Amino acid sequence: MKCYTHSDRDGVAICQHCGKALCQPCTIEVSGKISCRGVCEKEVELLNFIIKKGKPSLQSNEMAFLYLSAMTLIGGLLLLGLGFYEKHIQNIRILCFVAGPISLIFSFYFYKVVKKLREG
Ligand SMILES: [Zn+2]
Ligand SMILES: [Zn+2]
Repeated sequence: MKCYTHSDRDGVAICQHCGKALCQPCTIEVSGKISCRGVCEKEVELLNFIIKKGKPSLQSNEMAFLYLSAMTLIGGLLLLGLGFYEKHIQNIRILCFVAGPISLIFSFYFYKVVKKLREG
């Protein structure tokens, strides 16, 4: 194994970010993790920060349901608004007054999931 940058030097470590072999002068330790000096330092630092923050999957789940809740809420209100506004085509009114409340019910359900995730 030779250093990725210096083909005449032996590699002593592997960067945890890009996986390249590194010689001693190319190696730097960023809070316990090996990184390319000056190349991957920032990325490894960021990676450590994300891991330390903890529960990343739970948080992204929460965000996804919060997003769904907001979208169905907006969609439901728009449908109801259209139902009130549209006075000529009866079929569209009926569709809006059926799909609107269903969308709002889904929004409420998604919001309950978010609350449950927050409480843990
Ligand atoms: Zn690297
Ligand atoms: Zn090197």
